[in-house]
Amino acid sequence: MGHTDTLDPPDWDAFQRQAEAMLGLLCTHLRGLRDQPVWQPPPEAVRARHRSAPPRAGDALAEVCAEFATDILPYGSGNTHPGFMGWVQGGGTPVGMLAEMLAAGLNANVGGRDHMAIEIEREVIGWSRELLGLPEGADGLFVTGTSMANFIAVLVARSGALGAGSRRAGLRADGRQLTAYASAGVHGCVARALDMAGIGADHLRLVPVDDAFCISLPDLRAQIAADRAAGALPFLIIGTAGTVDTGAIDDLDALADIAAAEGMSLHVDGAFGALAALAPGLRPRLRGLERADSVAFDWHKWGQVPYDAGCILVREGHRLRTAFAGEAAYLSRAETGLAAGAWWPCDLGPDLSRGFRALKVWMTLKVHGTEALGRAVQRSCDLAQDLAARVAAEPELELLAPAALNIVCFGYRAESGHDVNAAIVEALHVGGRVAPSLTRIGGRPAIRAALVNHRTDARDIEALVAETIAHGRRLTGLDRGLRRRPAA
Ligand SMILES: *Cc1c(COP(=O)(O)O)cnc(C)c1O
Repeated sequence: MGHTDTLDPPDWDAFQRQAEAMLGLLCTHLRGLRDQPVWQPPPEAVRARHRSAPPRAGDALAEVCAEFATDILPYGSGNTHPGFMGWVQGGGTPVGMLAEMLAAGLNANVGGRDHMAIEIEREVIGWSRELLGLPEGADGLFVTGTSMANFIAVLVARSGALGAGSRRAGLRADGRQLTAYASAGVHGCVARALDMAGIGADHLRLVPVDDAFCISLPDLRAQIAADRAAGALPFLIIGTAGTVDTGAIDDLDALADIAAAEGMSLHVDGAFGALAALAPGLRPRLRGLERADSVAFDWHKWGQVPYDAGCILVREGHRLRTAFAGEAAYLSRAETGLAAGAWWPCDLGPDLSRGFRALKVWMTLKVHGTEALGRAVQRSCDLAQDLAARVAAEPELELLAPAALNIVCFGYRAESGHDVNAAIVEALHVGGRVAPSLTRIGGRPAIRAALVNHRTDARDIEALVAETIAHGRRLTGLDRGLRRRPAA
């Protein structure tokens, strides 16, 4: 084959026709989501087909695509579906899907060098900064998700507390134990970030929450004072804007005051909640976010951008470089030419090679605008209020936590010792109409509906309530009891 033996298509016209067919497949799929089950388990025969040896000779793209259509597409986790309310996941958009294709076509490596993808990432980081109210001078980076963004924030705060020299000398040079603080409702990835940073997960103090599931400020102050008295070095407060269990938003303004008084950093985990800033009616709830030293959040949750699109913003952008920049001859910079640019994204975080995540956020914001995204955020919260009201009105159901934002935790009432909520959630998943998830509130299993998906509407809320009650009655035997009851 000689010079023609590349991986490009031998017949570009045929390739383009196939590409259009694949686009058609996805458009048909997305248009018909509501008619599909939210989730169905991959059949054993399908799973078995995919325990195969590496393909040595290739197949036609059309055939491989047909396999995608039968074996992969119907067996997603359901997060694009309007009935999906499990965990906290975004629904994605058709526009985001196309942006992913464009980004893949460019195949940009956004770790560095002088090209337009870097300018676009800077543009979107600038938009993010402005939308969340951080000042000019803030900088940031797209990363996989808030787990990674929280980890970066811990590393930035660590080198802030110990000085950049600690990057070489390590943690023991200081002699004092670094300690961090967050509410008991903090996401598990924050403890893991302290673990990965070498500080140790035990040195994340989990401060009790108040009745609204927000961090208790008197307990926080007392814990910091106790640690100082014991010779530790309290360095970081992590506030949560939208806890994963209940959607509680810590008093960020008060946390900023405490951090300032104590000479500590304030980081905000705003994985989904930070984008409440897009909804004018919710924005005041985030008061104090603009004072944070860093914010981690996801465009792939409430921002509806396809996975993955996490984001870290740091108030004093240079602190990212203090924490991460290095010198390597093979990455040296030039005044002009392809290797120009004083700072490259690889100086701001742990990754060198990076994809063009910013493009799908850029295109989502350009096409839909922040107002439409904000309306989707507001709608999630309105639906949560509707659901909470439905739960309150049903004698068989009970609300298990205040529905502060877009998350409703509730349960089916059963005699103590016979909790059916886990079984209800399983039955709902298998039923395929709606998919909430399970959590524990105050030690009790709770059905948790996290309303994030822009496609979810009142029909899905109604189906959740009706099916929860039906399964609850079946599981407690109440349906038999009702049938046995003599007619009046
Ligand atoms: C989802 C979530 C995370 C983790 O974010 P990923 O993007 O999944 O890594 C962290 N904190 C909170 C509050 C979350 O909801």
